[in-house]
Amino acid sequence: MKIKAINGFKDILPEAALRWQQIEQKARDIFERFGMCEIRMPILEKTELFSRSIGEATDIVEKEMYSFSDKGITMRPEATASLLRAFIEHGLHVQQPVQRLYTIGPMFRHERPQKGRLRQFHQMDVEIIGATEPQVDAELMAMGQMLLNDLGLTVSLEINSLGCPACRPDFRVKLITYLEARKESLCEDCRRRLATNPLRALDCKSRGCKALVQDAPSILDSLCNDCNTHFAGVEHSLNLLGVTYSKNRFMVRGLDYYTRTTFEFITDDLGAQSAVGAGGRYDGLIEQLGGPPLPGIGFAMGMERLALLMDQQTDSTIPKSSTDIFIAALGDEATEYSSMLTHKLRTLELKAAMDYSGRSLKAQMKQAGRINSRFALIIGENELVEKQAVLRNMQTQEQVTFSLNEIIDEQAERLRSIIKPEFRITEDNVII
Ligand SMILES: [Zn+2]
Ligand SMILES: [Zn+2]
Repeated sequence: MKIKAINGFKDILPEAALRWQQIEQKARDIFERFGMCEIRMPILEKTELFSRSIGEATDIVEKEMYSFSDKGITMRPEATASLLRAFIEHGLHVQQPVQRLYTIGPMFRHERPQKGRLRQFHQMDVEIIGATEPQVDAELMAMGQMLLNDLGLTVSLEINSLGCPACRPDFRVKLITYLEARKESLCEDCRRRLATNPLRALDCKSRGCKALVQDAPSILDSLCNDCNTHFAGVEHSLNLLGVTYSKNRFMVRGLDYYTRTTFEFITDDLGAQSAVGAGGRYDGLIEQLGGPPLPGIGFAMGMERLALLMDQQTDSTIPKSSTDIFIAALGDEATEYSSMLTHKLRTLELKAAMDYSGRSLKAQMKQAGRINSRFALIIGENELVEKQAVLRNMQTQEQVTFSLNEIIDEQAERLRSIIKPEFRITEDNVII
C-alpha cells in the first residue's frame, strides 16, 4: 500500500513551486519597498494565545484549530496573533516606535477541504504596529493593491469600519434588536451566535440571512466621532494614492480583534465571490495580549488563492527552470574531468549539470534538453586526447570547437565568458 498525503494537505510540486517563488519574490520586493522587515515565528503556540486574540466564539477557535489538548498547544491558524506574541515577548517597540513586519508561511485550520481551501494553507502576512494614522491604513491597502497589480491580477478592494469599544457596543445592541425580531428567518448558525457574535449575520452566506440584513442598521451610521473622522481619513488617503475601492458595510471579518478599518481584496474568479487577501486594524489587541497599549493594522494574502488566480486571470506563464550548461561526458576519464569542471562552474555561479551514468551521447543530449540547458559541452575520450571539445548552443543548434586545457580553473572561466554575456538574459543575443 502506497502512503498518501492527508486529505486537505497538499504537495507543492516543482512546477507549482516556481509559481509560488514568483509570487513570494514579488511580494518581498514590494513589502521591502514599504519598509517591511521579515520576521519568522514557530508554528506551534500556546492555545491560549488564539482563544484570547481571535476570540472564543469564532469559528476558528470553536471548531477549526489543530490543538494538542493534553499539552495546551495549537498549530497556528493565522499569523497575526503569533507575530504580536513575538513582538511583545521581545519588546520590539522599544527599538523602534513603529514596526513594519511581514512573514510568509503555513497556517492550519481543520476545515472542510474545498477548492482553494486547504487544512494547511499558506499566507503572506504584513503588520504595521504602533501607528493609528489613517494614512497608514491607506498605505497598507495601497501596498496590497500594488502587489496584486504587479502580479497581473484584477481584484477589487472593499473597505468598512467596525468602530471601536466606544461605539460598537451600541451598534451591537441595535443589530441584536433587529435580528431578534426576525429570528425565524435566520439560519441556524446565526441564531446560535446571536448573543455571542451577532455581527457574523452581516456576512453570512445563507440566502435568508443575506436578504434579511439588507435593511439591518449600518455600522457606518453608528460610528462615534473619532471613528468617523478616522474612516473619512482612510477614504481621503486612498483617494490621494489613487487606490480604487468601494465601501461594504456587511464586511465584518470572522475575528473578534478587529477595530475600525477592515478591508478585503475580492474576486469573482474563484467560484463564489471570495477574498484573496483581507485584514484590518486591531487597536486593542496588543494590550489584551499583555503588551503595551499600541495600535496595529495588518492583512494576510492566501498563497494558494493567488497562485490559482494567476493561472486563471493572467497569461503570465510559470517561469521555467533552466540550466546554463550540461556537460555530456563519454568514458571514465572524460567523466572524471567533467565532474571537476562542473563543480568549478558551479563555484562561478553557473547552473551546471552532468550525468555520471555513462549513457549514450544521444541519451545525454536528451537529458540536456529535458532540463532546459542553454549550452552543452560534449567531451569524449578522443576530445580529451585532442584537447578539443564540442560546445553546442542548444537553442540555435550551432556548435563550435572548444579547446580544452588541463587547468580546470582557466577552462571554467573561459566557458563562463562565453555563457555569461547572456546569463540571466533569456533568448536572443546568442554569441556563438
Ligand atoms: Zn468609535
Ligand atoms: Zn446566517
